[in-house]
Amino acid sequence: AQKLDLVLQHIRNVPDFPSKGIMFKDICPILKEPKALAAVIDLFEEHVRQNHPHTELIAGLDARGFLFGPLLAQRLGIGFVLVRKKGKLPGPTVSVAYALEYATAEAEIQVDAVQPGQKVLIIDDLLATGGTLYAACELMMKQKAQVLGCMVVIELKDLHGAERLPVPVFSLLQN
Ligand code: 5GP
Repeated sequence: AQKLDLVLQHIRNVPDFPSKGIMFKDICPILKEPKALAAVIDLFEEHVRQNHPHTELIAGLDARGFLFGPLLAQRLGIGFVLVRKKGKLPGPTVSVAYALEYATAEAEIQVDAVQPGQKVLIIDDLLATGGTLYAACELMMKQKAQVLGCMVVIELKDLHGAERLPVPVFSLLQN
């Protein structure tokens, strides 16, 4: 509970970002405070060791999944791969399209990022509608990986994103 409090204290609510009426959860203060960042990684590590001890790979989402994923993977002694916005990774790659609020986007991985049957956990900073994590799950499944679950620092419960995902979601904080 102490670690969770520390994490909570380092999330900043920013009104009207990126547009009017949106309350943005800013995780930058976590990265600025080493004790808070360590708490995040500790809590994720405990979750993985207890619930998914056979995890072979962490896949992180562009861009804030990249901040936590590699640290967690290092702790666990496993690898990290990037799920990027389309066009950023050298090929060969595989991509899927997904819907954003007012547009569509594409998520992409390198085809050799994950092997068939490999046990993968997917990480991002925040779960809203679930569209982004859903795309990552689809990509992993397209490559025949075994997705064990998703992990986020914050879950916006009102948007019911977890219900849209094909795997369980673990969140440190719910809002
Ligand atoms: P979803 O696809 O679940 O609707 O949106 C989640 C994605 O949007 C994540 O990649 C996340 O980084 C970003 N996102 C949406 N809202 C917020 C927010 O309030 N704070 C942060 N840090 N990220 C957000």
